[in-house]
Parts: sequence; C-alpha cells; structure tokens
Amino acid sequence: MIRVRKPAEPPAVLRTKGATSRRSMSAAYSRDPQAYEAGTKSFEFDSGLYGHATVKQALLEAQHGKCAFCESKFVHIAYGDVEHFRPKAGWRQEEGEPLGKPGYYWLAYAWVNLFLSCTLCNQQFKRNLFPLQTPARRARNHKDDVLAEDPLLLDPAVDDPEAFISFREEVPYAVQGSARGEATIRTLGLRREALAERRRDRLGYVKALRNLVKLGGPEAVEAQDLLQRMQQNSAEYASMTRAFLR
Ligand SMILES: [Zn+2]
Repeated sequence: MIRVRKPAEPPAVLRTKGATSRRSMSAAYSRDPQAYEAGTKSFEFDSGLYGHATVKQALLEAQHGKCAFCESKFVHIAYGDVEHFRPKAGWRQEEGEPLGKPGYYWLAYAWVNLFLSCTLCNQQFKRNLFPLQTPARRARNHKDDVLAEDPLLLDPAVDDPEAFISFREEVPYAVQGSARGEATIRTLGLRREALAERRRDRLGYVKALRNLVKLGGPEAVEAQDLLQRMQQNSAEYASMTRAFLR
C-alpha cells in the first residue's frame, strides 16, 4: 500500500449530481432518523455516479492503474470496484457484528471517500468493515464530523501507509507493532497467499537484478535502471520492493 495523491478537484459528476444527491439524502435522514437507523428505511445509491467513467479514470490515473490497497495491477483482466473507504450503506466495527445503519451515506459520492480497488480487497476482505480505535467517536450521520474519528484502517489519501506497513521479504508486517498497520493488513487480507505468491515472483527478479548490479559487469547499468523503475509508485508492489532495497 502506498500514498495516493488524488487531484484536489473532484470529477464534475460528483460536484453536481453527487452533491445534489447528498443534500437530498441528508434531508431525508433528518426527517426520519430513527427509520434509517433501524434500517426500515434505507438509501438507494447510484453506482452511475460514484462509479462514473470519469471518476474511475481519475482514480486509475492517481493510483497508477493499481489497487489502492494491495498494489496489484488488474485493469488488463478486471474492471475493479470503485470502493468507499467509509462504507456507504452500513459499517461493522468487527467481523460478525450486526451492520451499523445507515452507514456513511453522505460520503457515497465524496471524492475523498473513493478509491479504485481490486475485487478481492473490496468484496472478499474489506466489505463493510470500518473499525475505529474509539468506537464511541463514530460519525453516525451527516451532522457528525468524520475528522473526530480515529480509524484503524490506513487511508492511502491521508496517511503514509509505508510508515505503518513494511515487508520482510514478501510478507507485510506492522511497523513497530502499529495497531493501524496490523488492522489494515488483517482487514484487507494483505497476507493472503495468492498475493504473497505474486510478490515472491517480483522479489525474485529484484534479487537477480541486485546481484547483476553488484557484479558490476556491462549489464549493471541496465539492471540498476530496472531496479529504479521497480521502486517507482507506478510499479506493482513498489512498497515491498522499496522496503527490500532499503
Ligand atoms: Zn487489491
């Protein structure tokens, strides 16, 4: 996981239709908060807005075509999910707990809340999980301030994930036992075997290139150039490669 720098200006569809929808949902909630909290009333979200082609494209560019969480490149084989960092329709502090309603509906079309993610990180692992260090601080409706929350999950647009998660070989670990690093690794399934296998492959190339550089023969310059590129933000698993070469 690496830092994601999104353009400050949200795509137009979020500023216009997204903002209108946010206002009408907030007004609907204010008219009948109990019904939305009990789940007898719920919001309908328009994936045509948060998942609009312009939103997806802007996220793809900001994230260098990689999943915001596991750094896998997937666009050659899958569409990917526009994922809500704070879950729009209900949240869970922990696995197995009932869904907290109504969710972060007011952030459904908020640029700051959107990332592009691979299907596995989103649908198999993160889902509705949004644990806080202090659950009592949770923002429960649009009148509450999300900035008062202390999320356990690292926000790649706010935090520097590499300060919290590093790697021993291909295995991620929480730096100095960081609770946020550990919760992020666990919640997003960043230790899953299929991912470890892909990282191991890459590490094999990194090691071979490093040996070529050490040998200093005619291939060393090219090998060094490749190693540089494999550490850039645009490279798959750049955070692992950078940690290994540090
Ligand atoms: Zn992923």
